[in-house]
Amino acid sequence: MVREMKSTVRTDGPKPCSALIQGAIGLPGNDEKVSSDPIMLSHGALCIEKDRIVAIGDYTELTQRFDPAECYGSEDHLILAGFVNAHDHVRAPSSVELGVPDDLLEVWILDLMRMPDLDPELVSTLAHCQMLESGVTTVVNSFYQPTAKRYDETLTAMLTGAQHSRARAVVTMSTMDESIIGALLSDVRSQLPNGLRKQTDQFLASRNVMSMPEYADLVRSWSVQTDFDRASVIMGPVSVHWCSDAMLEQIWDLSTSLGLPIQTHLLESAYQRDAANARYGRSVVAFMNDAGLLNERLSCAHCVFATPADMELFAAAKVSVIHCPGSNLRLQNGVAPITDMIKHGVNVGLGADSMAFDDDGDMLNEMRFAHGLHADKATGSPLLSKTTLLGMATRNSARAIGMGNQIGSLEIGKKADIAVYKSQPRNDGRRMTPSIDALFSSDASYGVDQVFVDGELVVQNGRHVKIDRDQLHAELIQAAEKKLRDSKSFDGFIHALKPFIRQHVNNRL
Ligand SMILES: [Zn+2]
Repeated sequence: MVREMKSTVRTDGPKPCSALIQGAIGLPGNDEKVSSDPIMLSHGALCIEKDRIVAIGDYTELTQRFDPAECYGSEDHLILAGFVNAHDHVRAPSSVELGVPDDLLEVWILDLMRMPDLDPELVSTLAHCQMLESGVTTVVNSFYQPTAKRYDETLTAMLTGAQHSRARAVVTMSTMDESIIGALLSDVRSQLPNGLRKQTDQFLASRNVMSMPEYADLVRSWSVQTDFDRASVIMGPVSVHWCSDAMLEQIWDLSTSLGLPIQTHLLESAYQRDAANARYGRSVVAFMNDAGLLNERLSCAHCVFATPADMELFAAAKVSVIHCPGSNLRLQNGVAPITDMIKHGVNVGLGADSMAFDDDGDMLNEMRFAHGLHADKATGSPLLSKTTLLGMATRNSARAIGMGNQIGSLEIGKKADIAVYKSQPRNDGRRMTPSIDALFSSDASYGVDQVFVDGELVVQNGRHVKIDRDQLHAELIQAAEKKLRDSKSFDGFIHALKPFIRQHVNNRL
């Protein structure tokens, strides 16, 4: 079988192309079916010309038809579409490394304010580099800053970092006008001792919130930016119930007029579910349906507490859900009902949320973890197959952010965003046959060899071609340690507040 891009130019000899990669190839399954699994092409090869895939087929046939400038892979290699990390916050080093332990979500959000303010360009470079080395080629960065000036500057720095790494960056330009911190502190204010209450009042008074017109100006200008290649923006409320109804309406109107997808956090914790129920008098998803906010351009991260009725509404409106399994467990929210969502016909993508279970932003390990996590209680057998998880991390994630026609699967004409894996030889010198099973094997014998974004080689032998990740990581840890030493008084304020927030949230559960 040979699939090839049609050309009007006839040549007698082999056609030149940028690169040919040999290996077993994971191709998309039936694209019409939401949960259809990828299929494998053995003894295959794939040709790249500039930033596009131009041919996929049998290795021997393609070597006769093409004259590649570079050759990669072997019959032991496995070739897959680059992963699309559909929900992340581009944090590195991890929050644990920066002194913020895993905790109940609402306590952890408060604690995050203690994280040292590191150079966002270096943070972004490191985070993207880490993810590229685990086979991720596109990262959706759920981004927020409280003031317009800081928003613009930090976003510029983060995209500069992404550009250094050469990853594809999709930034969710998020906003809110009723912050979670403000809501939580107002809830516990009356219980605080006098001194702490005064400090809390001063802290709340010092917080600025960007206005909707300022936000709209930023989104308009970033939606047409030309300074960064491989970068684009989408929009979103940080979470639906942390925005006024008026703000939600304006965000959705702006997204319609600019044609931009929307991503939001939704139903991540039991506290969020209860707060939204109290606010709307019904499920937040039912409220969104009544307000006309559910549509194909919307993706919702987490949805741990979605009910079957919510899932029906998602499926009917073609809303996508982003599963963040490691984060959901680390922040004590539990296991999202993903298999039920898939049964309802919801498109489910995968995200690391900067809280992957192995704390290293490794998407492949996150998929291995999710495979073990979702099991049938009666039989113990996995409920999410390996190929389903692979489809979630690639095609479904790309669809969720409106990029399904460009990335997320290996198809002719699509962007050459590709991860190539190789197996380690066994003791007897033989290698495992390349397959999805081998990729998920618990001994992790398959690892990333090369990663291409837009046809550009960015990872070789499992390491970034330009950036020394270990050195950058060490530099940032050193900078963080210095800043942590200088921030003791704010730390004391946060530590004093934490027991009140914990009790408040637990009382509602
Ligand atoms: Zn998130």
